[in-house]
Amino acid sequence: MNGNDEAPAPSRPRPVSRGVELEEPLALHGGRPVRDTPWPTYDKGAVFVHAEDEDAAIRAIRSHLYFRYDHRAQKETECGRFEDELCRYFGTRHALAVSSGTAALALALMGAGVPPGSLVACPGFTFVATPSAIVLAGCRPFLVEVDDDLRMDLDDLRRRWRPEIRAVLVVHMRGFAADVEALSAFAAEMGVPLIEDAVPALGAELNGRKLGTFGAAGAFSTQSDKALNCGEGGFLVTDDSMLFARAVALSGAYEGRLRRHFPHGEPPLSGLDLPLLSLRMDEIRAALLRAELTRLPQRLALFHRNYAHVSAALAGLPGIAVRRPVAPGAYLGEAFVFRVPGGDAGWFARALCAEGIDARNIGADDDLNVRAFWNWRFLYDHAEPGRIRATLPRTARLLAETVDVPLSSNLTPGDCDDLIRAVRKVAGVRDTALARP
Ligand SMILES: *Cc1c(COP(=O)(O)O)cnc(C)c1O
Repeated sequence: MNGNDEAPAPSRPRPVSRGVELEEPLALHGGRPVRDTPWPTYDKGAVFVHAEDEDAAIRAIRSHLYFRYDHRAQKETECGRFEDELCRYFGTRHALAVSSGTAALALALMGAGVPPGSLVACPGFTFVATPSAIVLAGCRPFLVEVDDDLRMDLDDLRRRWRPEIRAVLVVHMRGFAADVEALSAFAAEMGVPLIEDAVPALGAELNGRKLGTFGAAGAFSTQSDKALNCGEGGFLVTDDSMLFARAVALSGAYEGRLRRHFPHGEPPLSGLDLPLLSLRMDEIRAALLRAELTRLPQRLALFHRNYAHVSAALAGLPGIAVRRPVAPGAYLGEAFVFRVPGGDAGWFARALCAEGIDARNIGADDDLNVRAFWNWRFLYDHAEPGRIRATLPRTARLLAETVDVPLSSNLTPGDCDDLIRAVRKVAGVRDTALARP
């Protein structure tokens, strides 16, 4: 796994660990790294999947019934049961399991009746899937600046409001709740629906209410990097029966299958009025997700425990600005995101990587990070990144200062301590390192 000798050289006594070993040279400068085992992330297989979850998927495979609309009643199918369980979990009237988070977002916009060609407001800091879903729904993204805590800035949205904006798509980016209460009040004032991209915040709450239940619909993903993981997939939740019926029909519930989603009455549309986009979920993934859903509370508790530990230890550290939640506990804890105001966040992220922590500077020039809006060139007729940055100068400046570290729910307290030690080590020498000409 690594070529480092774990044992210290006998002639050189190891300093007694005091948690912060500031005298240690940075690994970037040839010193000993804080850790020499890989940082656990989903793409290295560090996922929260239990033997019962595997058994559920294997049972579904052995059933040979993979398509969600088969001879069984809706409540006998894995997809149908998953949707019922989601309704109970979120307290919503409806839930629809689909093929991805991007599909869930696009279906929510189309289901809400946002006219094709309209502008849809979304934050300038999000994963590229958000503006892509707006494009998929036939609309155009209207990017809004974010605030110092990287949340969609209501003041900027209000100041630049245009009548062509026909929906607001808020994002709880990297698990941190947007100020969705204020944003939904504003959307209501403007008479447009608010949709939540709650993909990165599955299970997180704001003031006792689950994210994804504040607007007309909430969209979630079950791709491997999210709080429920079946490789690919997603779902939407809503109380709006018309939005739901349209989304079901568009997702591919043809020849009367729409009716299965309305067990207590007729659907509000026929299902022949809309194209069929085949964005359904299948039975194997739904079986895996249903099993995982039973252990979601444990997983959420681990995310929270890890994040609370890391952020409490690093909150006051000079030189970095840790994201502040919009209300106490209003985050999932799937990532540790902080800024290095006035410093060199690219250098900071490289120094952390050398210490054995996976870290990225979101706005780095040498990293085509698709969370940086200037890399969404399809929206800008392939203009130069510099010209694109100038369209949202504050967000561009903040992302240039931002460092992002993924926090898998599988992290042990020891992993979290390594992260704390590495950030302290890098922050402790940052000023001297940067002061050098
Ligand atoms: C992952 C992600 C998505 C897309 O989910 P997919 O299932 O990969 O389509 C959308 N929005 C955000 C903010 C995400 O992080």
